[in-house]
Amino acid sequence: MNPRLGRLARLLDVARDSFTDLVAPMACPICDTESSGSPICVDCRAELSETGTVCPRCAMPVGPWTRLDGGCDKCRGRPLGFDAAIALGPYFGPIRDLCLRLKHKQDEWLARWLAELLADARRDALLAEIGADCQPLVVPVPLHWVRRLQRGYNQAEALADALARRLGLRMALPLRRIKRTAILAGVGRSERKQRLKGAFCSRRRLDGRTVFLVDDILTTGATCGAAARALKKAGAKRVVVVVIGRAEGRG
Ligand SMILES: [Zn+2]
Ligand SMILES: [Zn+2]
Repeated sequence: MNPRLGRLARLLDVARDSFTDLVAPMACPICDTESSGSPICVDCRAELSETGTVCPRCAMPVGPWTRLDGGCDKCRGRPLGFDAAIALGPYFGPIRDLCLRLKHKQDEWLARWLAELLADARRDALLAEIGADCQPLVVPVPLHWVRRLQRGYNQAEALADALARRLGLRMALPLRRIKRTAILAGVGRSERKQRLKGAFCSRRRLDGRTVFLVDDILTTGATCGAAARALKKAGAKRVVVVVIGRAEGRG
């Protein structure tokens, strides 16, 4: 998009949102109470922002005294393709419900609020990856074009766009999904990895860059791992997966 048009579109977005906030209190998509400012109400925001101890490498919840050098017991020594992972929270309860809603185009509006909540709730972990000389690129995991056409939008891109704005970073779309894979739900880790081999490629060089690789859910890590490998092949130095929900994948 022409940068001027892009700026105008963003201004119109802000104006529309401010207008909506003024005239219409919103119902929280989790508990249905009226909320203003963000549709996710203060109580639900607080609940979703709670942090337990998680593995910094794979974002799985772990006990408070777990040894975390080189990852947790589940990921240590296992090549993941990415260097670190940050999640809003475990994939159950409201996070699961919201992620399922995000798969439908009519609930695209939720992406902005979830991404903002993620940016605010996990700000310390995200800021630790942003240095003076390192401005990570925010990159969504792409859908194959056929899937994108069916769904009408890519929820990972909507999340990445809102996350980039909230953190003052740039979103880029270097990845292309070149291999269409059957639905992966219920498929084990090694089978997923095999099916996703060579599924992504990068259209541009990313030499020395840190990348925030954004998706809605991290399950076995096979999809994000394959996308991260394509980013590394294009020269990316560090890939940090950023997701809303962290699900436990089947072995
Ligand atoms: Zn609520
Ligand atoms: Zn781990």
